[in-house]
Amino acid sequence: MVKILAALLMASLAPGALGATWTVCVEGSGELLNTPLRGAVLREFRELMGGRGADLGFGTCVRDSRRIRLEIQDEPPDHLDGVLGLAYRRSERIEPRLKVFYGPLVRYIGDPNSTQLIGRAIARVAAHEAMHFLEQQPEHCADGL
Ligand SMILES: [Zn+2]
Repeated sequence: MVKILAALLMASLAPGALGATWTVCVEGSGELLNTPLRGAVLREFRELMGGRGADLGFGTCVRDSRRIRLEIQDEPPDHLDGVLGLAYRRSERIEPRLKVFYGPLVRYIGDPNSTQLIGRAIARVAAHEAMHFLEQQPEHCADGL
């Protein structure tokens, strides 16, 4: 019952995303994310977003699925100091182009050796930014995005 309610809740939160297949393609992360860290990111992302028709891939994105580009960079630009992630916007549209910033995330977690925590955090920020795009929702509210 809890699972059904959760599925209904997710459906009501993400009507535009259901039925669609999107792959978040991670680019430019070779030197930052080792294999165990990639595994932790993948597990958490699939847990969060699998029910919403979105997957994540490291350089193996299939051509026939719709793609969201994700760059994982060390630090944000100076004017975005402390920001953990970004979804790009052009005029009124949020584009399928995201960034996650590794440095501020690791500092926030406070333990640079915790693969599981860092991987989960990267996945959660990536999922958050992906939802800005999937929902075309630039704003935040108290009970969700
Ligand atoms: Zn946001």
